[in-house]
Amino acid sequence: MLFPAIWAEAANVARRLEYKGGEFIMRHLIAVGLLLLLALSACVQHSVTTITSTPDRSSENEAEAVYTEVRNKMVEEQIRSRGITDTGVLLAMAKVPRHRFVPAEYLSEAYGDYPLPIGYGQTISQPYIVALMTQYLEIRPGEKVLEIGTGSGYQAAILAELTDRVYTIEIVEPLGQQAAATLKGLGYNVNCKIGDGYYGWEGKAPFDAIIVTCAPDHVPQPLLKQLKDGGRLVIPVGVPGYYQTLWLIERKGEQSRSTNLGGVAFVPMLGEH
Ligand code: SAH
Repeated sequence: MLFPAIWAEAANVARRLEYKGGEFIMRHLIAVGLLLLLALSACVQHSVTTITSTPDRSSENEAEAVYTEVRNKMVEEQIRSRGITDTGVLLAMAKVPRHRFVPAEYLSEAYGDYPLPIGYGQTISQPYIVALMTQYLEIRPGEKVLEIGTGSGYQAAILAELTDRVYTIEIVEPLGQQAAATLKGLGYNVNCKIGDGYYGWEGKAPFDAIIVTCAPDHVPQPLLKQLKDGGRLVIPVGVPGYYQTLWLIERKGEQSRSTNLGGVAFVPMLGEH
């Protein structure tokens, strides 16, 4: 859109200069010259804009205020309106800066009603799914929670708003390291580990709640064993690459009760099991 407009303007200017004889070539030479000048001034203008918009305190605060507004809208329109009622979960979703967990190229979509790529073929889950799974975990302050599939660290931050004992395992090392750095940078005290979450975190078991954010094709027995009596496991189970069923599994002594929470789509659990 811009270049045809510049070209037309340059050609007009050249036409107004009223050259006689050989005008055609002259006009075009002048037009090209003007075009180059305009392009150059656009570049200078751009670099000036970039420099003056380097974040100072107030513009940073302004940006955060905008994110806060969009986040509150997300909570109302995507989460509360779909039936999430747990106050702790709603407050956590309103507080955690989701935009700090998405790659820079997706910043403008950080609060969209869908998952986003985070690299290595993985995704940060849709906000509503994060809220729904967290609500089913029924975490009370001080309870010990394990997450399988740290990814961006966003879900771990939500958990950390509800209890100060959060453990999370990621199998893709660079993702796990980056999530640990993001969480630390935001002041969250989350215990991060690189490894295969299928086997849980034996040394820290038992857990009051376990959330699995990647989908195995069966319920990992080590996770069931690491649940406390009365503990809750929320896990998508199904064929890799298709839709899965989200399950709430509550442990009661040596028995467990499973509730089907509906269809979901998660990335597959990696590893040989
Ligand atoms: N909870 C994440 C989203 C996770 S996407 C967030 O809030 O951003 C699922 C993650 O599970 C991916 O990062 C993937 O690498 C990880 N994953 C897959 N298989 C795993 C396994 N066996 N153990 C631990 N993490 C696994």
